[in-house]
Amino acid sequence: MASASAVPSVRPAPADPNTLNPAVWPEHAGRDARGVLVVGGVPADELAAEFGTPLYVVDEAAARSRAARLRTAFEAAAAGIGTDVTVYYAGKSFLSGAVVRWMTEEGLGIDVCTGGELAIALAAGADPARMGFHGNNKSSAEIERAVAVGVGAIILDSEAEIDRVADAAARAGRVQRVRLRVNSGVHASTHEFLATAHEDQKFGVPLARAVELATRIRGRDSLEFLGLHCHIGSQIFDASGFGESAARLLGVHAELVRLGPVPELNLGGGFGIAYTEADDPRPIEEIALGIADRVAAACRDLDVAVPKLAFEPGRSIIGPAGVTLYTVGTVKPVPIEGGTRTYVSVDGGMSDNARTALYGAAYSARLASRTSDAPPALVRVAGKHCESGDIVVDQEHLPADVAPGDLLAVAATGAYCWSLASNYNHVARPAVVAVRDGRARVIVRGETEADLLARDLGLDAAQDAGHGASVAAGAPAPTVSTAAEGAAE
Ligand SMILES: *Cc1c(COP(=O)(O)O)cnc(C)c1O
Repeated sequence: MASASAVPSVRPAPADPNTLNPAVWPEHAGRDARGVLVVGGVPADELAAEFGTPLYVVDEAAARSRAARLRTAFEAAAAGIGTDVTVYYAGKSFLSGAVVRWMTEEGLGIDVCTGGELAIALAAGADPARMGFHGNNKSSAEIERAVAVGVGAIILDSEAEIDRVADAAARAGRVQRVRLRVNSGVHASTHEFLATAHEDQKFGVPLARAVELATRIRGRDSLEFLGLHCHIGSQIFDASGFGESAARLLGVHAELVRLGPVPELNLGGGFGIAYTEADDPRPIEEIALGIADRVAAACRDLDVAVPKLAFEPGRSIIGPAGVTLYTVGTVKPVPIEGGTRTYVSVDGGMSDNARTALYGAAYSARLASRTSDAPPALVRVAGKHCESGDIVVDQEHLPADVAPGDLLAVAATGAYCWSLASNYNHVARPAVVAVRDGRARVIVRGETEADLLARDLGLDAAQDAGHGASVAAGAPAPTVSTAAEGAAE
């Protein structure tokens, strides 16, 4: 039993700790007659019974409708200033075959930033011509593959990459389209942006060098220059930082236009979402219009044509479409300075959601298997890892009778949770289940204990079975008989 706590709360206690704020939970998420959380028409207790916990659940309709809404918002804003737009889904937020297909069907291109992401997107049937390839340290193999498959644009991130990509394209007998990533000096987060001359970060080249480097790009016959690219941050709630960055980029863009064609301007991603009811991102339509206004005004002032625009949202599409289901194992009151803190420990943690430990991110949690009339109690949701920083939700109000065996759902875990998951403590990574119209299907199977053992070539089981000699890196794993408890297949 969680006791009411004297620990200071960063969040006011809700009148009812069972409510699902529609800004935070997937659209159409609700509770059935029993009080069980329902996502995509599937009750959480059925998901847990069939697939086990922890479990990533992605609402396909929510992901698709968010993608369509973003694309429509940017298309309308671009049309309003006489241009058009390409929206790329930033694959690093969550990339799997099913998600690539959803995004492609909703009319988005796909951005990748490693050979692995490229391989998944290609295997899922994405059109390489509608892909962007990012990364501040692309390997030669990655560059060669991107060129060979005909990736629509490689985003050059450094001076060194100009020749690397140009040479690879020349060897392949191709002309590779490229963008040049610059630091606009604008760094935005949630409610504010910081505009400086120089940024101390690894991505891109200084804006002040853009003309010189674009000229070098144009000097290579195997490259076609598309324009400037920048990405100013993440979890940004309004248009002001994007507008400021666009205006700075367009100043240089106008210089480049005098020297040759510059068809595009890519303003990156970073649009914010509500993780808790305290978050209030402006609607994407308003942000898109705000950016378009700034772009149009800057182009007027500079007397250049409005370029084609491009954006790269990740989190704002897939983040709110996902929830994670856990089972509560232990509820422990811990005496602390000034009161008692209740630790609710669940069967996952920083291996399936690193963001709280990594960034101090805030999340919302609710009982998923039932509602309760008990008063709200302030709790901290912790994971099962051997690490005191293994926190899933730092502060949340749950019904005070939260108890072992309850299912707990954490909202807005669609982005940067599964993609950042690890095997810390040899915990198997959970399955990802897509829900839609009352049906659930596994889109990424969960790892099993056998998966964990299979790559370890120093295990007695592998040697005893006489597989030692035949097991090379990448070779088929020896069969290890394990119970694979809780396997979500
Ligand atoms: C991370 C990243 C994105 C996506 O950011 P979100 O916050 O998920 O929208 C887009 N473009 C680039 C270059 C990125 O690095």
